[in-house]
Amino acid sequence: MTTIGTEDLQALFARLAEAMAHEKDRLCALDGVIGDADHGIAMELGFAAAAKAVSELDPATADPTAVFNTAAKSFLNAVGASSGPLYATALMRAGAVAKGKTSLSEDDMVDIMTAFAKGIQDRGKAEVGEKTMVDAWAPAAAACRDARDRGLPLADCLAAGLAAAEAGAEATKAMIATKGRSSRLGDRALGHMDPGAASAVVVISCFKSHFAF
Ligand code: ADP
Ligand code: MG
Ligand code: MG
Repeated sequence: MTTIGTEDLQALFARLAEAMAHEKDRLCALDGVIGDADHGIAMELGFAAAAKAVSELDPATADPTAVFNTAAKSFLNAVGASSGPLYATALMRAGAVAKGKTSLSEDDMVDIMTAFAKGIQDRGKAEVGEKTMVDAWAPAAAACRDARDRGLPLADCLAAGLAAAEAGAEATKAMIATKGRSSRLGDRALGHMDPGAASAVVVISCFKSHFAF
């Protein structure tokens, strides 16, 4: 059983910022096809701001809740696009899971995956099948929880979550959007992956690599 503390989470945000910088052009290109081409910029700016702000917290005094809440606030302030409030809500909900804890358990991380998915759904009111990031997050959280219920360690739960997110993102190609900017395109969005679902895969892939102990 591994425990996850403030420093692990600071390193996780550094990893997320690095991954989004790396994926920025691909995510902007996806958004260029069915949206306004800024999704990579939004995710890079958001996680860069979050990583910088959490790196300035002192692990001696800041608990995991403070890390997630700081990340949420910074992400929201940095991002003007729809992904700003969606991820800010996800991060605030993660902070609520961590409340009162000096470190997080493997079960807490599975709860955090659920909290991310639920936060995004509550904020954006999208259901599975509407061609949004929910199509990656909802199955990822469910697969992660299911793996945990089968007694698997966190690394395997996150691997199951990542596989489900990848399948969910792939499935958005066959969907017509009914939420967000790309809903204006109707069936012209068919055949193209939703950028928010693609970036969700990047986020979950960072979680998986970071906790692969
Ligand atoms: P914007 O469309 O404002 O430019 P982004 O480009 O950052 O915002 O994000 C676009 C992504 O946001 C979409 O690909 C989709 O996954 C996600 N999205 C948009 N609206 C919603 C919603 N209501 N619920 C969940 N996700 C949404
Ligand atoms: Mg956009
Ligand atoms: Mg935009």
